Amino acid sequence: MSNQNYDAIIIGAGVIGTAIAYELSKKGRSTLNIDKLPASGYGSTSNSCAIIRLYYSTIDGCAMAYDGYNYWKNWRDYLKAPVNEKIAKFHDCGTLIMKTKQNGGLKKQLKHLDSLDIPYQHLSNKQIVERYPFYDVSSFGEAKTLDDPSFGRPNGGEIDGAIFFPYGGYISDPQFATKNIQLACEREGGEFKFNSTVEQIITNNGAIAGVILEDDTRIDAPVVINVAGPHSQKINALAGAELDMNISTRALRQEVAHVKAPKGVDYASFASVISDSDIAVYSRPEIGNNILIGSEDPACDEHVFVDPDDYNKDFTDQWTLQAQRMGQRIPGLGIPTKIKGCVDLYDVTEDWIPIYDKSCIDGYYMACGSSGNQFKNAPVAAKAMAELIDYCESGVDHDVVPMKYKLGTIEGKINMGTFSRLREINQGSTFSVLG
Ligand SMILES: Cc1cc2nc3c(=O)[nH]c(=O)nc-3n(C[C@H](O)[C@H](O)[C@H](O)COP(=O)(O)OP(=O)(O)OC[C@H]3O[C@@H](n4cnc5c(N)ncnc54)[C@H](O)[C@@H]3O)c2cc1C
Repeated sequence: MSNQNYDAIIIGAGVIGTAIAYELSKKGRSTLNIDKLPASGYGSTSNSCAIIRLYYSTIDGCAMAYDGYNYWKNWRDYLKAPVNEKIAKFHDCGTLIMKTKQNGGLKKQLKHLDSLDIPYQHLSNKQIVERYPFYDVSSFGEAKTLDDPSFGRPNGGEIDGAIFFPYGGYISDPQFATKNIQLACEREGGEFKFNSTVEQIITNNGAIAGVILEDDTRIDAPVVINVAGPHSQKINALAGAELDMNISTRALRQEVAHVKAPKGVDYASFASVISDSDIAVYSRPEIGNNILIGSEDPACDEHVFVDPDDYNKDFTDQWTLQAQRMGQRIPGLGIPTKIKGCVDLYDVTEDWIPIYDKSCIDGYYMACGSSGNQFKNAPVAAKAMAELIDYCESGVDHDVVPMKYKLGTIEGKINMGTFSRLREINQGSTFSVLG
């Protein structure tokens, strides 16, 4: 028997699910986030590298990231938080991306960035070394695995310089940032239910009616939104929403390495976020004078798709591989015996572009397939989803007439059809975490 009724139920209280609830609450809808974990942001959000950068393969992706950057930059205003409330820190250190054979010198992305007036600066190899004296600009690409006899051997060339974007950086505590949004949402009347697993999604005559939890509690709502991160495919299956989807989602295992900066280098004081496709890793400063090293998923590495409820949470040789790849660039990098970092999951689509969409079931929506690159976009994705829900609930068919979302902090609109579940695989994508 149902004794609870909301305008919208959000399955998941990660950074995106919590932000969607915040936006819906501001629009006057009663919301309930349900999460099986004990607190907000405890799922894949908690292990996010939380890098905020503006370059994506689509113009809509770049515009969204630029708009999102402005919310992170003005985080307290976004949250409408009192001055004494502690909020997550945005380290506005800029992002550096190496120009390589693999990314074509970023020429395609720069066209999008130019059209959005996003500032950047080309750096020669000499300028890179002046700014980052510990960095070796030799080329090592294509990326190789550790068992390749030529691993770690420069190929005789150099990278082709880099591009520095002053707008960018990272959030050092993504879970705390999500808690900030939860508090903001609660101030608007939103509610959260933790330690509760959604086990069934109820429909009535093809329209959403609510959910049933593992303890048989039924909660009613005319709108249910799947923001279950790496569990999104399981939730879509519960709802029967996969039937018309052209793009699907799968959980992809990832390891992130934390390695001490070379002796005598105060890394955080001058290093920025670095994306380096020549060695197939991205990196950023991490607390304790560590360098955080993630993978850019080169073709030579095995892509390990898993059941999100049953996968290996221990480090493997992949950790060592990523650390050694970084060691090619930073020769003074010590590879520790006690390994640190995290193991978690991306929720990946075929083209590594998210799905922000309605579904074939009235009242059932999805914000999923975030493909390891949507932490930064959470505030924008949430606003766009809240508008998309209004748009669809008012009777317009978004599949036929895609909604255009007017960006909040910069000029322009994004076509939400870019993120449709019905789209063809976007062949312009990087097919990597870079989106
Ligand atoms: C290692 C790693 C590094 C990343 N680095 C970056 C980066 O640098 N920059 C960037 O922009 N993005 C990055 N990302 C991606 C970003 O973190 C994610 O896109 C984002 O955190 C997803 O948020 P979410 O709210 O959709 O999902 P999640 O945070 O995964 O939340 C989903 C929630 O749903 C809950 N749930 C699932 N099933 C159920 C159920 N049946 N009932 C109840 N609750 C359920 C889970 O418990 C979970 O809390 C990274 C991701 C990972 C894993």
